Amino acid sequence: MIITKEKPLEEILSFLEPYRKVLVVGCDGCVQPPRGLREAETYASLIEMASKARGKPIECKAITVSRQCCEEGLPNWVKPDGFEAMLSMACGIGVQVMNMIFPEIPTYPAQNTVFMGAEEKREGRMYELCRACGDCILGETGGICPRTRCAKGLMNGPCGGCVGGKCEVTVEIKNWKGEVIEEVQNDCAWYLIFERLRTLGRIDLFRKLRDPTDHSIWVPPRRI
Ligand code: SF4
Ligand code: SF4
Repeated sequence: MIITKEKPLEEILSFLEPYRKVLVVGCDGCVQPPRGLREAETYASLIEMASKARGKPIECKAITVSRQCCEEGLPNWVKPDGFEAMLSMACGIGVQVMNMIFPEIPTYPAQNTVFMGAEEKREGRMYELCRACGDCILGETGGICPRTRCAKGLMNGPCGGCVGGKCEVTVEIKNWKGEVIEEVQNDCAWYLIFERLRTLGRIDLFRKLRDPTDHSIWVPPRRI
């Protein structure tokens, strides 16, 4: 899933200030936390209340689509006639596709797109797990990605900073407002890989010499 964080309302209002009629478009796809119709309606109400309080009322309507990142079918679901701008609840991909498919009016982002990852439970903590490197190494590393989960992206075992199985790099955990709520030491990815391969009886894979990451294959923008 693609993890996003909501932008501050102030920033969204600064985008929308010149407009009086705005279509808020949710996305029922892989964006997390959910940003579908319920969330689009919430944003629409917030924008209406906040803009009215400022003396420049914006009228909003909320809809949602199955996936904003798929061009096919979008024109059937989104009817921007009568609106001056759209606000997308999707990730940055959805915002760009909306601007391509509906070039006659601007689509603005309601979210900051943060990473691709997993969540421990609904509304729980979220973890980055993959950087879409285009050359997946999980078959050699016990299903644990060193390119993403090692702070230094090392490819051949841990650095000297691994102590007690923990990474030397401290990670700040922030809430949705961007406030630091906790500082943690992640598990060292290479410690996890070693333990996993040992459990699987595949220490031979740990000993294998891996080439440095070929960064040339993930120069953006990529295409298939
Ligand atoms: S190696 Fe890591 S970053 Fe690359 S595709 Fe596999 S999980 Fe994703
Ligand atoms: S301690 Fe482990 S996870 Fe952290 S940077 Fe070093 S090798 Fe990578």
